Amino acid sequence: MSSEKEAALAAVPNDSPTIFDKIIKKEIPSTVVYEDEKVLAFRDINPQAPTHILIIPKVKDGLTGLSKAEERHVEILGYLLYVAKVVAKQEGLEDGYRVVINDGPSGCQSVYHIHVHLLGGRQMNWPPG
Ligand code: 5GP
Repeated sequence: MSSEKEAALAAVPNDSPTIFDKIIKKEIPSTVVYEDEKVLAFRDINPQAPTHILIIPKVKDGLTGLSKAEERHVEILGYLLYVAKVVAKQEGLEDGYRVVINDGPSGCQSVYHIHVHLLGGRQMNWPPG
């Protein structure tokens, strides 16, 4: 089993602080590629493509994953996707890229603080694994 899948199946889906809170507070290092008052984008520690960036809201507000989305989250959800586009351009991904939101154990989510994966720099395949 892949380590990503193992991590996802071992993760407890709850609203406790995650490693991403420490990344937001700069208590643990990350390579930040974009930051504003609402979101942080940083390189994934275990990249699955030449460009692999995570885009997260600075305030989780119960949004542990997409399946917990409420109407009040509509603005931040749209903004996460917009920032994915901004960062893709900044990274020079002119030929295309993929955005992914894993949700829950079956979706292979391992960190319960919603995040958009931005993957690029290689040819993607379909169907995904
Ligand atoms: P998920 O599997 O929940 O969709 O994605 C979580 C992602 O967070 C994984 O791709 C994993 O590699 C990444 N990740 C986990 N811990 C850290 C960390 O401490 N730093 C960074 N930069 N990425 C992390």
